[in-house]
Amino acid sequence: MRIDLHTHSRVSDGTDSPEELVRAARAVGLDVVALTDHDTAAGWDEAAATAHEIGIELVRGMEISTLHQGRSVHLLGYLPDPTYEPLDRELRHILDGRGQRLPMMVDRLRGLGIAITVDDVLAVSQDAAASGRPHVADALVRQGVVADRDEAFDTLLAAGRPAYVGRYAVALDEAIRLVTAAGGVSVIAHVWGRSRSEHPDEAELAALQEVGLTGLEVDHQDHAPERRERLRGIARDLGLVVTGSSDYHGTGKTQHDLGINTTAPEDYHRLLEAAAAASAASGRETPEVVR
Ligand SMILES: [Zn+2]
Ligand SMILES: [Zn+2]
Repeated sequence: MRIDLHTHSRVSDGTDSPEELVRAARAVGLDVVALTDHDTAAGWDEAAATAHEIGIELVRGMEISTLHQGRSVHLLGYLPDPTYEPLDRELRHILDGRGQRLPMMVDRLRGLGIAITVDDVLAVSQDAAASGRPHVADALVRQGVVADRDEAFDTLLAAGRPAYVGRYAVALDEAIRLVTAAGGVSVIAHVWGRSRSEHPDEAELAALQEVGLTGLEVDHQDHAPERRERLRGIARDLGLVVTGSSDYHGTGKTQHDLGINTTAPEDYHRLLEAAAAASAASGRETPEVVR
């Protein structure tokens, strides 16, 4: 059984429609795929309809933009009830923050002598729930300013670079509580992927588990083998579920092909059991896993 629990469609910053993504997952032989667009459930219905039609198991998820100790942390929320008002309100706040940031980033770029407009970015992000930095990067690629998304981030858009603009994110512990209260389960994405330091460390992860954290995404392309082993050890010590996923973005990210990392069936089943338990405790219905 091949299980990939982290993918993005055009509804956030991937390049496939939800339907195309689900079909691609089937084509590469995955048995289970989760759609986890940034801060939105907007792609779920289309993905579920396709999954039902072609016979692949779909897990409805999202990747929530959070902050922990001043650092950006991405939280994968699986199977929350998206109509739970406090969660929905938080997601809208995050998406609004992305929307407000776009004109500010464009202003910074124009100040650097790059002739880009908001419309140029909107032209590449048509189907997205909000336009973010990856879309700005794509517009810069299209204009020939940079060669690819990575160069756009490294030279202009990443924190500390000249066109970077901060934006709203929810506190990590609050996001975990919201996902649990919505009847879902939480897994920290690429736990040590973005930072040079190994934070959150084991003590912080134990504290987050107390709040309701269920798992760690250990097998991710941003983790070197040595970090994967250290994280796997921490997950084992704490009794956290271990996941492995591609973080697929279509052609938006190389080296993240569907199924490049996968999650063991036992860990997947533990996640589903935790979601069922959260749903029973909160009274919020868990969206069905399409089979
Ligand atoms: Zn992420
Ligand atoms: Zn992601």
